[in-house]
Amino acid sequence: MDHSGRLNKVRRAIERADVDALLVTNLTNVSYLTGFSGTNGQVLVRSDRAVFFSDPRYEARAADLVEGADIVIYKNKLTDVLADHLDDGRRLGVEAATMTLAEHSELGETLSGAELISTKGIVEDIRRTKEPAEVELIRRAIAISDETFEWVLDRLAPGATEREIALDLEVHMRQQGAQEVGFDPIVGSGSLSAHIHHTPSERSLEKGDLVLLDFGAMVGGYRSDLTRTVVLGAATDEQRAVYQIVLEAQQKGIAAIRDGASGKNVDDAARAYITEAGHGDDFGHGLGHGVGLDIHEAPRLGRISEDVLSAGDVVTVEPGIYVRGSGGIRIEDCVLVTADGAEVLGRAPKERLIEL
Ligand code: ZN
Ligand code: ZN
Repeated sequence: MDHSGRLNKVRRAIERADVDALLVTNLTNVSYLTGFSGTNGQVLVRSDRAVFFSDPRYEARAADLVEGADIVIYKNKLTDVLADHLDDGRRLGVEAATMTLAEHSELGETLSGAELISTKGIVEDIRRTKEPAEVELIRRAIAISDETFEWVLDRLAPGATEREIALDLEVHMRQQGAQEVGFDPIVGSGSLSAHIHHTPSERSLEKGDLVLLDFGAMVGGYRSDLTRTVVLGAATDEQRAVYQIVLEAQQKGIAAIRDGASGKNVDDAARAYITEAGHGDDFGHGLGHGVGLDIHEAPRLGRISEDVLSAGDVVTVEPGIYVRGSGGIRIEDCVLVTADGAEVLGRAPKERLIEL
């Protein structure tokens, strides 16, 4: 990964944000900019150099992993050493979404010569646009979740509990080479499939259940995010009809994606179709979100999104219809935004409601 190139992009962005340096405290951003992974690390990005900070537990690891930045190890606290690396009278940007009020006031007291400026999304905006090597890692994570979906179909039988299926998903993805799961899997069955963010329960699957599976893998730090909904036994006409509405809505959303499209308009394209079909009130979340080092990152596809898509974004497209008391159907794939459209990255089957 081109860490120096990424640091240079941050330098251009902080110039536009009118700060002299940026203190990066979000660990995912730290990892993105330097290659470091661990539970404690910060990066100070200045126009002339970058400094990575951590504690003695990570001294050897930082020496192995960190690229593009000098390494400073502090014994106690960052604030013991940070002032040594800042010039007086400087405007220091901090990441408002990560820094606590307590950290902010301590920093303000120890850096009396610098003005602290709240910044938002500087590194996240750069992370949005995936480099080819990042897309490749996402593709590998997607290949694992796609394969795992086909594998798990045999395990979906009356009597199995949601928790057992969730564990099956986790173990199988790791056996297939995932370093971790992308996020805690969702397995929702029967009426519980209508819970948009369900936590797998001890409920046993029953014939006739809709089973909603939402899961992903992580490869090299990058995540996949896949949802498929199947039915145990023969589907009802209603289940089949709702499935086709969700599928068509997903295709309309994907067709609206291209460089320059707004996240709101892409959401509209899918939502209008679901609304026309009479289920507008049953689709209670945004159409999608960026995926990468975080499972939810910029940009957003949704009714209140102000994001504009650009080539290199990887977003999910995940319409759903949830009917309380009876069940929910969601279909989700990861999509790469290209100059003139979108490439669906996943291959898991979805053409019709799978009946097991
Ligand atoms: Zn998902
Ligand atoms: Zn998602």
